[in-house]
Amino acid sequence: MEAVQAATELHEIVSRYWGYDSLRPLQREAMAAVLASRDSLVVLPTGGGKSLCFQAPAMMMPGLAVVVSPLISLMKDQVDALAACGVPAAAVNSSMPTEEQRRVAERIRRGEVKLLYVAPERLVSSRMIGFLQSVDVSLFAIDEAHCISAWGHDFRPEYRGMSMLKKIFPDVAVHAYTATASAQVRDDIVKQLGFKNAEVLVGSFDRPNLVYRVREGRKQRFEQVVEAVKRHRGESGIVYCISRREVDSTADALRALGYKASAYHAGLSDEDRHRAQEDFLADRVDIIVATVAFGMGIDKPDVRFVVHAGMPKSLEAYQQESGRAGRDGLEAECLLLHSPGDTMTWKRLLSSGDTTPAALQISLQSLAGMGRYATSAQCRHKSLVEFFGQRYDKKNCGACDVCLTEVELVAEPLIVAQKILSCVVRIDQRYGGDYTAKVLTGSQEARILEMGHDKLSTYGIMRDTRVGAVRDWIEQLVGQGYLQKSGEYDVLQLTPTGAELLRGRGEPKLLKPAKREAKAARTTSDEWEGVDRPLFEHLRELRKQLAAEDGVPAYVVFGDTTLRELARLRPSTLDRLAQVKGVGQKKLDSYGQQFLAAIVDFASTNGLAVDVSDELGEIHPPTQGGAGGGFSQPGDDQPTGPSRAALRMFPHFAEGKSIDEVCTVTGRARSTIVGYLNEFLKHEGIDDATAWVASDVAHRIEDAIAHCGNGKLKPLYEHLGGEIEYDDIRIVAICVSNRS
Ligand code: ADP
Ligand code: ZN
Repeated sequence: MEAVQAATELHEIVSRYWGYDSLRPLQREAMAAVLASRDSLVVLPTGGGKSLCFQAPAMMMPGLAVVVSPLISLMKDQVDALAACGVPAAAVNSSMPTEEQRRVAERIRRGEVKLLYVAPERLVSSRMIGFLQSVDVSLFAIDEAHCISAWGHDFRPEYRGMSMLKKIFPDVAVHAYTATASAQVRDDIVKQLGFKNAEVLVGSFDRPNLVYRVREGRKQRFEQVVEAVKRHRGESGIVYCISRREVDSTADALRALGYKASAYHAGLSDEDRHRAQEDFLADRVDIIVATVAFGMGIDKPDVRFVVHAGMPKSLEAYQQESGRAGRDGLEAECLLLHSPGDTMTWKRLLSSGDTTPAALQISLQSLAGMGRYATSAQCRHKSLVEFFGQRYDKKNCGACDVCLTEVELVAEPLIVAQKILSCVVRIDQRYGGDYTAKVLTGSQEARILEMGHDKLSTYGIMRDTRVGAVRDWIEQLVGQGYLQKSGEYDVLQLTPTGAELLRGRGEPKLLKPAKREAKAARTTSDEWEGVDRPLFEHLRELRKQLAAEDGVPAYVVFGDTTLRELARLRPSTLDRLAQVKGVGQKKLDSYGQQFLAAIVDFASTNGLAVDVSDELGEIHPPTQGGAGGGFSQPGDDQPTGPSRAALRMFPHFAEGKSIDEVCTVTGRARSTIVGYLNEFLKHEGIDDATAWVASDVAHRIEDAIAHCGNGKLKPLYEHLGGEIEYDDIRIVAICVSNRS
């Protein structure tokens, strides 16, 4: 029973403070480990909701949760975001005046702080350790835990100090969270932290809400960037470039076109970088053009696109950078533009550092892996998930250029590939891609004629194809491992599988240049269904203002998910507003009135209906009365009982009081009472709706159910010509389903 109680209490906390009514995959398990004080390692992709895994339990456990986080800028945002939800959190860092640090310490001693964020180097200082030994620590949470492993892509020596936590605090559980996890890094984290019998939870690496696209970007790179940016006008996005120079020129060019864009790279002053970041978070700037220096400190959940104007150096890096899109779970686009020149640039950069030959070897392998991804014609979701060692069984992801058939494949790739490979052989495997493509297309260039290569049987056998297209196919064959580049000049040579292919064995895939236009979002997406776009934009503006007044990032006020829900459901009462996902008690108090006023005002000026009902089964009772019952996860069929607040209303319904009568006696909003009535009907198995719905209306609804089935409400509503309220339809639908 204890577990059930804990689950109920968690439910209450998550819904009161965060306004969420369900958990994401593995959050429940991760929270159970925290509550049971069992060490844990949780691997979830970016946006998987790792923070909640320790934040919510921290609110339930006595004492102070200590959170290790690598970046000071990130800490401040997290503390602000928690404060906006009413969760007492604080951060200490060396840049804070001593006086302020002392005040934080006093608040902790008085038990006023539930979560304390510290940098790793700070945590291991003897003063901090001494202080923590004198207070009651509930748990340690280590964010970005891969930083502890030298195998990871972001090793930070200061993280090594974390290995002493289990020794100094043997009775306090340590929880590690990361989005990166090769099995090797995972094992290393467990080892370094000294975990025994730890709960290890590894989520799916797939990010189904991201639409991946890959385009050859040798020519018209900037035009392609602009095209992508256009698809997301007014939305937040990141454009990554390899060099600082490209960052500056791209940002300038975007600004010249009227976009609100800022540059960000390590060559800028701290002040400029800080301003760019703050402007982006506050939605004063839509686009950040950056080198990879940008990102670690960015928790912005509503990034709607990430464009790579150049190829990153590894798939790990790509996963991490592109993963900054769509953290809020809403659709977002990741576009990768690549060219053979990018590979050359990386090779130069990688070998110019003071790396060991072994390390260089690993880097070059990673680079080659990236190149294979860029030139492959396999589903992008599948490629990424499999790269991280997981299975991907979906036949069509519906969210990548390959599956959306934006790219077309060459009909007879084997023949095309054989022509190219045999030409490589004819020119003695001594020339690069450009030269080979020219020979194949029959160029009259002097060098070719001098070498007598115009006499070869493969000269001009691809005369009908653009030289650029042949060049792309060569890269694709390299990417798929049929050709390799060697030496300083990237001379093309056949690999063993290339030799096989020449004999007719193998299945290359060659892309035709894109025909179909990329669409702004995923074609199968219905996340905008019912959302009034102009109202959404209006609320975004309000969010921006409120955030500026409070000096917090815009998303701290409300995330995009919540704004879309508001623009869809258009609540007109505080009770209704409280039922919207992402609206917890504190935010209701801080911002509720302003958003209500904006919604009601906008709706009346624009003739929009308010208090749009959600569909059957998605009734969110208000949380103020304290919701009970199980904590359901999507796809989970645990029975959920009526809330306590609803139970208090049951006697009124049992007496047969009408909805309006119950509103009068209780003084609560109609929408709230209707929600409770629905719970009553379900719980008591009532099959006759006529106490609450006029009998002729009930008959019409029953006829509609007979016609459309008793599933979603919307088809019923439409079948009834939009003449009957959703509330009435839902009541009758519940009664009808109670009959079976
Ligand atoms: P991660 O650290 O894993 O990248 P975050 O903890 O930043 O992810 O969470 C990503 C986003 O998802 C945040 O906006 C967060 O508030 C939201 N989120 C987390 N858990 C839930 C949930 N159970 N329901 C709805 N939204 C959630
Ligand atoms: Zn796909």
